[in-house]
Amino acid sequence: MTFELSERVQTVPPSGIRRFFEIAEERDDVISLGVGEPDFSTPWAARDAAIASLERGRTSYTANRGTRELREAIDEYVADRFDLEYDPAEEILVTAGASEAVDLAFRAFVDPGDTVAVAQPSYISYEPGVIFAGGEVLSVPTKETDDFRLTVDALEAAGADEADVLVLCYPNNPTGAIMRESDLEPIAEFVREHDLTVFSDEIYAELTYDGDHTSIATLPGMRERTIVFNGFSKAHAMTGLRLGYALGPSEAIGAMNKIHQYTMLSAPTTAQHAALEALESCENDVRDMVDQYDRRRRFVLSRFREIGMDVFEAKGAFYCFPEVPEGWTAEEFAEGVLREEGVAVVPGDVFGPGGEGHLRISYATGLEDLRKALARIESFVENNT
Ligand code: PMP
Repeated sequence: MTFELSERVQTVPPSGIRRFFEIAEERDDVISLGVGEPDFSTPWAARDAAIASLERGRTSYTANRGTRELREAIDEYVADRFDLEYDPAEEILVTAGASEAVDLAFRAFVDPGDTVAVAQPSYISYEPGVIFAGGEVLSVPTKETDDFRLTVDALEAAGADEADVLVLCYPNNPTGAIMRESDLEPIAEFVREHDLTVFSDEIYAELTYDGDHTSIATLPGMRERTIVFNGFSKAHAMTGLRLGYALGPSEAIGAMNKIHQYTMLSAPTTAQHAALEALESCENDVRDMVDQYDRRRRFVLSRFREIGMDVFEAKGAFYCFPEVPEGWTAEEFAEGVLREEGVAVVPGDVFGPGGEGHLRISYATGLEDLRKALARIESFVENNT
């Protein structure tokens, strides 16, 4: 028997990152700079809170929107760190990872035929999310000459004025680009003028290395048209605990909660207890991790320059995005360096238009391995160019 799978599922290709992991899994000497996941363990205080929560048998569902205590702590945290003000009762939804929040937003906002503009290169889940929701993606390529920041020229060239939603991801996965307030202002003006809704994925907001993160929702007239996504996977090294959240006006969060209450009921309870502790007592752990990422970032950038590969100055997240040497496609280089030298990196094309000819290098890997991996990349370049 063959299943008659939905067209939506069939149109979405398998993840381009997976293929490289499959090659990497065939051998045991591979150093992976491919994963978008912290190498740090979850801070102990958060782990202890999860353990204590289990010991007390707190294993029931929570309120659909998340525990009241956690929503209040999120409210205080985002106010303190990013100048964002949201009412814990109606404007915050705790989800199973930022991934669930992103998916809920697409499903709550997108009708068949709607267009979602995505600033690219970007995280690979937006495009499938839009397709699963029945919408169409409009790609808005950003350029290295703009430091991979989104510009009004890029929005206009792509025809994004006709879109319904604009997806932003800054600090950016895969480029490490950030958008400062002065970069966001013209984008906000365009968004207001053309009446778009913004989905702003700010999961890397803590991971900036040259000034604090600015959320587009803090710009005039933007709070009422923006949904912000954040979570505990990156800054708090809690990927496997699956906890994130969405912030937005009550009508939007209410609509997302409508889907969430039927499809998820509530985010994982143990993780909510860990997350509350993470916000209450792990600020220093986060600062330490950010310091270490910054040290690695500088090391990786300077090594690529020594090797002779152009690399733009990534200022956020835990990625950098060097250009492959002339004569190579990103895919050929990534496959070559994996087969010949045992270093796994991801070709930039996977992240959409604008990513061609680049590699995503994750430095969520210890300095020791980074040193070895960069030496191997250097010898690959020396032997092949
Ligand atoms: N957004 C971006 C930009 C990401 O890089 C990731 C993880 N790679 C996610 C969302 C998903 O995060 P979570 O683990 O919270 O679902």
